[in-house]
Amino acid sequence: MTQKLNNSQETPFVVITIDGPAGAGKTTIARNLAKRLRFCMLDSGALYRTVALALLQAGVMPNDEIIPDDLLKSISIVIEPAVGGMQITLGGEDVSAEIRSEEVGVAASKFSAKAEVRRKLLGTQRSVARQCDLVAEGRDMGAVVFPFARVKFFLTASAEVRAKRRYEELLQKGARPLYSEVLLEMRARDHRDETRSLAPMVPAPDATIVDTTNLTPDQILGIMLELVKSRLGLLK
Ligand code: C5P
Repeated sequence: MTQKLNNSQETPFVVITIDGPAGAGKTTIARNLAKRLRFCMLDSGALYRTVALALLQAGVMPNDEIIPDDLLKSISIVIEPAVGGMQITLGGEDVSAEIRSEEVGVAASKFSAKAEVRRKLLGTQRSVARQCDLVAEGRDMGAVVFPFARVKFFLTASAEVRAKRRYEELLQKGARPLYSEVLLEMRARDHRDETRSLAPMVPAPDATIVDTTNLTPDQILGIMLELVKSRLGLLK
């Protein structure tokens, strides 16, 4: 079945979307689901982080009102989708480690509220769905980027549990975070993502909401796989 992405774009490939707030477990689940189904995976947050890194490197501050058009146009991001993952390069360089810093994450959350940044990334994201079957994760995958996705999920979890997951991740990376600060930053980021006027983080009306607060990654994957298989007609 061909899926219409919008009036002018179609793809013969299956798209599954996973949206939700930071720390809900989207990236790990998206990767695992994609591997199980042998689909490509799009981590759209990584794209916003890559633009943010490029803008910071060019001296633009996250609270600056104006992002020069020429600068935005000159940012060259290439995605190579692969089963269960993807490779992103910025100007030909692998920046996968740099984009994971807290500074870049906060900047990404501020720059992503700007129309010109979202416009720049829309075509890049949709182009991946014309290359392979796809699990796409982010904030607006189901509602804006892939409205005709075959299966849509929205993962949630309490802010406390999400902050605890993030806190443990930072500890593992060797940082010495304060849980209270991680929780505050998590809430601030949720607020920015939920209240921005453009593509705010809301579940698509046809998304299945999965609350991961008391679920292990295996349990989450099990629930999602079952729904995907029944929707795609893969259940015996
Ligand atoms: O998911 P991740 O934390 O890597 O995303 C970084 C930031 O990029 C988010 O806080 C969010 O503001 C923004 N983002 C977005 N739309 C997406 C994915 C991420 O606005 N589809």
